[in-house]
Amino acid sequence: AVSSAEEFDFFYLVQQWPGSFCDTTKGCCFPDTGKPAADFGIHGLWPNYAKCKTRHDLLLDGAAPGLEMVTKRKKKKCWPEFCNNGEPLKIAAIADLLKQLEANWPTLACKSGKSFDFWSQEWKKHGTCSDLGQHGYFAASLGFKARHNLTAILADAGIVPSDDKTYFLSSIKDAIREGTGFTANIECNRGVDGETQLFQVYQCVDRAGENLIDCPLPMTGNCKDRVQLPAF
Ligand code: 5GP
Ligand code: 5GP
Repeated sequence: AVSSAEEFDFFYLVQQWPGSFCDTTKGCCFPDTGKPAADFGIHGLWPNYAKCKTRHDLLLDGAAPGLEMVTKRKKKKCWPEFCNNGEPLKIAAIADLLKQLEANWPTLACKSGKSFDFWSQEWKKHGTCSDLGQHGYFAASLGFKARHNLTAILADAGIVPSDDKTYFLSSIKDAIREGTGFTANIECNRGVDGETQLFQVYQCVDRAGENLIDCPLPMTGNCKDRVQLPAF
C-alpha cells in the first residue's frame, strides 16, 4: 500500500492536567468509567513541522492530503492533519490496550463520556498523519507516558497539586528537564478565578516515534512566571 503519511519533523506528546482542564468556566465531565486519577492524562501525539509550510512547500513534498484546505484558506500549515481520508479508528486494533487507555487517556470533555470517541478524534486528526499505524500510535503514546511519569517527576521536585500554592514556571520546566532528560513546552490556562494554571505539557518525540528530543520550537503558551497546579 502507498503510505499517505505526510512529511513532518517531530511529534508533540501532549498531556493535560485534569485539575486545570476542569477548573474553567466551561468545566468538565468524567468519562463513563468514572473519575480519572489525579494524574496527567494523554491528549494526543501530534505530528508537527519544525517550520510552517506554504502550499508550494507542500507540493514539493508531494503531500496531497489536506492540501485543498490550504488552498482554500490561503494559510500556512504548521502541521499536517486529517491525513489518509480520515481512516477511522478500529476498536479491534487496540483491543489489548483498552485498559491502559481508559486509565491514561480519559476524556474530560462534556461530550459523549466515551473516551473511545476522544481517541478516535485524535487518531483521525493527528494519528493518520504519522507512520505508526493504529496500534503503534496508541502503544507509543502510552509508552512515553509510562516511561516519564510527569506527576511523579513534579512531585519529586515539590510541585504537588494545591489550590493555593503557586510555583515558578522555571522550576516546573527545570523539573521536567531533569526528570525526563529533555526540554518540554508548557501551556497554561485560566481558572474560574482568573488564576494562571499549568494546563498541558508538550514533550517532543523524534519522527520515528521512538525517543524524546529537546523541543525544537519555543512556545508562548499563555503562562506567567508563577502558575498553579490545581487539585483534582
Ligand atoms: P488550540 O487552538 O486550543 O491551541 O488547539 C486546538 C487544536 O489544534 C489542538 O487540540 C490540536 O489538535 C491542534 N494543535 C494546536 N497546536 C498544535 C501544534 O502545535 N501542533 C499540532 N500538530 N496540532 C496542534
Ligand atoms: P483537539 O483539541 O485535539 O483538536 O481536539 C480534541 C477533540 O476531542 C475536541 O473535539 C474535544 O471536544 C474532544 N475531547 C474529548 N475529550 C477531551 C479531553 O479530555 N480533552 C480535550 N482537550 N479534548 C477532548
